Amino acid sequence: MNMRPEIEEILNLVQKPARYINSELNSHKPDMSADFSVCLCFPDIYEVGASNLGLEILYHLVNEKKLARCERAFAPDSDLEQILRERKFPLFSLESNSSLKSFDIVGFTIQCELVATNIVNMLDLANIAIFSKDRKEDDPLILGGGPALTNPEPFCDFFDFFILGDGEGALPLVIEVCRNSKKLSRKDLLKKLSEIDGVYVPSFYSVEYNEDSTIKSVTAREGVKPVVKKALLNLENAYFPKKKIVPYVQTVHNRLNIEVARGCPGQCRFCQASKYYRPWRERPIEKLVALVGEGLESTGYEEVTFSSLSCSDYKHLDKLLIETNARYGDSKLSISLPSLRCNEHSLRVAQYINRSKRPTLTFAPEAGSDRLRNVIGKYLSEKEIAQTLLSANAMGWKVIKLYFMIGLPTETDQDLAAINTLVRLVRKEAKGLSFNITVSPFVPKAQTAFQWFPMASQKSIKEKIDYLNKILPATVKAHNHRASILEAFIAKGDRRVAGAIYKAWQKGARFDQWADKLGNDIWSQALQESGLNLDFFVYRVIKQDEVLPWDHLHFGVSKAELYADYVKGINETSDAVAGQFTRSNSLLPQDYVEPVNSVVLPVMRMRLRFSRAGAVKYISHLEQIEVFRRAARRSGLPVAFTGGFTPQVKSSYGPPMSVGYESFAEYMELYFTEKISSNEVIRKMAKVLPEGFKITEAKRVPLTFPAIDILTNVAEYEIKNVSVSQQELDEFLSQDKIIIVKNKKGKDIEIDAKPLIVSFKSEGGGLKLLLKFGNGKTVKPESILAKLLENNKNYGTMYLVARTNLYVQASNGNLYIP
Ligand code: SF4
Repeated sequence: MNMRPEIEEILNLVQKPARYINSELNSHKPDMSADFSVCLCFPDIYEVGASNLGLEILYHLVNEKKLARCERAFAPDSDLEQILRERKFPLFSLESNSSLKSFDIVGFTIQCELVATNIVNMLDLANIAIFSKDRKEDDPLILGGGPALTNPEPFCDFFDFFILGDGEGALPLVIEVCRNSKKLSRKDLLKKLSEIDGVYVPSFYSVEYNEDSTIKSVTAREGVKPVVKKALLNLENAYFPKKKIVPYVQTVHNRLNIEVARGCPGQCRFCQASKYYRPWRERPIEKLVALVGEGLESTGYEEVTFSSLSCSDYKHLDKLLIETNARYGDSKLSISLPSLRCNEHSLRVAQYINRSKRPTLTFAPEAGSDRLRNVIGKYLSEKEIAQTLLSANAMGWKVIKLYFMIGLPTETDQDLAAINTLVRLVRKEAKGLSFNITVSPFVPKAQTAFQWFPMASQKSIKEKIDYLNKILPATVKAHNHRASILEAFIAKGDRRVAGAIYKAWQKGARFDQWADKLGNDIWSQALQESGLNLDFFVYRVIKQDEVLPWDHLHFGVSKAELYADYVKGINETSDAVAGQFTRSNSLLPQDYVEPVNSVVLPVMRMRLRFSRAGAVKYISHLEQIEVFRRAARRSGLPVAFTGGFTPQVKSSYGPPMSVGYESFAEYMELYFTEKISSNEVIRKMAKVLPEGFKITEAKRVPLTFPAIDILTNVAEYEIKNVSVSQQELDEFLSQDKIIIVKNKKGKDIEIDAKPLIVSFKSEGGGLKLLLKFGNGKTVKPESILAKLLENNKNYGTMYLVARTNLYVQASNGNLYIP
C-alpha cells in the first residue's frame, strides 16, 4: 500500500521509518467507506507495542467482524515528534495515514502507569484537546483500557471513558452504541455508554477531599450507576485472531503468541495483573492446537509462545506441547513458555520446549524466606524451590534467572539474607549452574491486598540493593528504583495526580518507563508546581476506613475481603524450616526421547531476483531477510534448514540497499531438499510475500557456486529528482580524489570513492551511476550524491535512488548479470 507523499517525506528524515509504515503482513487494509472508525494506540514505540496481544485481538476483532474501520498508532520516537512539531503535521495512523483526530474513537491501551506522559504527548501531537473537559462535540471519544487501570483515577482528566476488564466483550457494544447514537450529544452518548458493563465515565463522578488531603467522597451523578463492574469474558468461545500481524521491525516478542488462559489461579497479594484479569479462564485445547497450525501457516514464525500470567497452570499444557511438537516439529518450530511456576511440574512440561537446547530458565520466587513468601501469598517453600533448581540443572539447564522483590511488607534483613542462603545452597549442589538475579522494588497497587501498604523509602531500597549486590554470588540486576517510585505515585494517585502528569509532560517528560529517559528533575518540579506531596501518595500507611480513590470501581473482590487478606498476610508467622533436599536425577519420563534436530541436505539451489517498492522500501536489510525467510516457511516449498539449536531457512542474500530506496535488483538464494521448477518457486513465493515485494526471476544455480553477495561487485543506480549536467559530472569525476567520510563505530574514516565509480552519467532526466563495492570498500550512492551536490544550490531537494541492477565484473572489465 502506498503512503501519503507528505508522510513519505517525513519518513525519509527519521531513523527507523519502518516503525511507521502500513503494510505488515496480515494487517488490514483500511475500509475507508466504513461509517465508524477506531484508532487503537499504544503509548510506547512500535517495537514494544506491535506484539501486544490485547491490542492485536481488538484490532482484528473489530476489522474482521466489520464493526468499524480499525487502525493502529504507536508513540512516535523523539525524532519523529520533533519533525511533526516543526511541520505542524498531526500524528497519523499506520493503515490509512489518517490524523488521529479524524477517528470516532481513539483508544489507548495502558499496560503500565509510566506511559501517562506519552498519552498526553500523543493527544497533543494529534491536535486533540488534552483534557476531556475541553473537547468539542465532534472531537473523537478518548478511550482507555488495560491492566494498569485497577486505578484509572490519575488518568481521568485525559479520558472520556474507560473499559475496565476484557475489551473483547465491551468494545463491540461500545461501537454499536456509538454507531446507533450519532445524533446524541457527547454527554448523552457517554451516559448511554456508561450503562455497558465495564464502562467507566469519570466525568459522571465528583470527588471531594478532606482537609488532610484524603478523599471525603466519590459521588456518582444522579442517574449513573454508582459502582462500575469490570467487563468479563467467557474465554471458552472467545474470539482469537487466526492471522497475526508479522511486523517488519524486530519487536520485543517476535514470535507467534497464543494465549492459553487469562487470569491467574495464584493468590499473590501484591499482584495487580491477576486482579485485573481475574478470574482464571482457559481456552479449549482443540482450539489452541488449531490456532497454532493456522498461526504458523499465516505468519511463517519459527517460534510459538503459549502465554498467560501463569501458563504452567493450564490444565492441558503437557498435552498441548506434545501435540504441537508432534504436528509441527518437522518445521523446526521452537516453543517457549514465558511464565512457569517454580515447581517440578513446570520442569516436566519444560522438557518439551526448545528440545536439545537448554536455554535460560526463569522463575520468580519473589521473596527470600518461606515466611515472607507466605506473607505475600506466593506459597512456595525453600525446599521446593531448591529441589526444582537442582532438577533443572540435572535436566541440562545451566543458567537460571530469578526474580525477587524488595521492600515487601514485613520484610526484614533475615528475609534478604535468605535469598543468599537459597542461591548458595543450590550452587553448592549444582556445580556449573549460574544465576542471574533481578530485584525490583515492591510497588503497592490498587485493588490488591497490599493497597494500604506504603512503598519502602528510596534510601532503604538503595541499601537493600547494595547489600544483595555485595553478598550474592551472582549477577544482580536492579530495576530502576526511581521509576518504581513514580509508578507508585501514579498507581495510588487520585485525580489530582493528572496535574503533575500534565506539568511533567509540559517540561519534556516522555517515555518515563525507559530508565535512560526518565527525568527526575522534571518530575520533582512538576510535583512541586502542582502542589502535590509524593510522600502522601507513596510512603503513607493508609487507614482501613479511608476512602480510596478507586473504591467506586469493582474488580470482583470487595474491599472488606481485600482488607481481611491484607491482615492475614502481614500476620503470617509460619517460618517453615527448610527440609532436606536431594540431588535430583532428570525428571524426563521413561519413554521420553529427546528429538534429534535432523538436517536434510539440500539437493538444489535457486537464485531469486526481486524488486521492492512502496512502503517496504523503509525496511532494513536484516528485516528484509526475515521477511523472505518467513515467506519461504509459509510457501510450502521444500526448503532446507540450517543445523544447530535454532534452525533457519538455508538462504543467502545480495548486498544491502539503504533504507528508504526502491530496488529492482534484490537477490535471495534458497536451498531445497527436493528438485522443484523455477516457475513453482515464483508462483508459491508470490502468494506469500507481503505487498511491495515481487519476484521477477528464479534460476537454478549449482550448489557449490559462491554466494550472491560474494559473487557480485558492481551495482547500478538510477537517481531521479536531481538535475546535474554531464559536464558537471565530468568535472566531478576529473578530481584526483573524491573523499567520502564514513563513520564506523563512532570513528570517522576517509575513503577515496573515485576508483569505485565505474561510470556516472546524466541520462533521461536523471543520473545513472555504476559503483563498485566489496573488499572492505563500499560507499553508498547517496554519499556520492551528497558530495556531488555539496556546493549545488539545489542541494537539499529530495532525490530518489533506486538500484536497477547488480553485476559481476570480470577481470577484463565486462559486466554480467548474475
Ligand atoms: S503467580 Fe504471578 S500472575 Fe499469578 S498471582 Fe502470583 S504474581 Fe500474579
